[in-house]
Amino acid sequence: MKFANLAGRAAIVAGAAAIDVETASHGRFPADPHAVLAQWADFRRWADAQSDRGDRPIVEADLGAPSPRPTQVFGIGLNYRAHAAEAGLPVPSTPAVFTKFPTCITAPAAEVLLPSPNVDWEVELVVVIGIRAYRVAESAAWDHVAGLTVGQDLSERIVQWAGAGQFSLGKSFPGFGPMGPWLVTPDEVPNRDDLELGCAIDGETVQKSRTSNMVFGVSRLVAELSAVLPLLPGDVIFTGTPAGIGAARKPPRFLKPGEVLTSYVEGIGTLRNRLVAAPAER
Ligand code: ZN
Repeated sequence: MKFANLAGRAAIVAGAAAIDVETASHGRFPADPHAVLAQWADFRRWADAQSDRGDRPIVEADLGAPSPRPTQVFGIGLNYRAHAAEAGLPVPSTPAVFTKFPTCITAPAAEVLLPSPNVDWEVELVVVIGIRAYRVAESAAWDHVAGLTVGQDLSERIVQWAGAGQFSLGKSFPGFGPMGPWLVTPDEVPNRDDLELGCAIDGETVQKSRTSNMVFGVSRLVAELSAVLPLLPGDVIFTGTPAGIGAARKPPRFLKPGEVLTSYVEGIGTLRNRLVAAPAER
């Protein structure tokens, strides 16, 4: 099942069209995607029984982040060996966790303002929590996942490395968390633990790997995070980026106004984000 945020309303993707959740359920489920995520188990049972074709056309510009207002947004650093190597940093022995503040979340086809000439790309598999997870064993972790989506962990590298490291700030400018185009339930992707992902700038591939190369896979991440704090419905985990970031290139390369960054995960879909120059004043 594919769950989308269509112009702010929860929807089920059925081919090229969508089923409006509140309308089709006669109000049993609300229109707000975040509120639907909060009753995920009930919603899944209802959604899986829907056989409608969908009558609402899906327009890319109408799609919002499938979890538009996560309470918590986790990021995982150095979760692919080849990326740790290009960064010149050791592979962590436990997940390296930071937060992206939720105001950075944006739509899958949103334009993103570049606050500086030092903004880098990081395509990532994003996990969306559907069932509260606290002190969950690895073996039960997937039971708490609503689905998977595509994310970009856009990063301003000067701010990120200021002081002793400011990952959360450097990765939280407005628009630095495009997500979508929809959430796909784990049973519907080819292999929830092994999916190709990558991104391209104006069609030139800059990152390409598989999620099976993650140092800590999805179930381990859910177990490790939930060992410390509860993961709530709608929370998202950016699971880390593979090799190919711009800062590691010689010379370094960063995103420029006018470029279009496309990011994909196999079996899920593609983000399409045009970068635009930020106004001089704010
Ligand atoms: Zn990242």
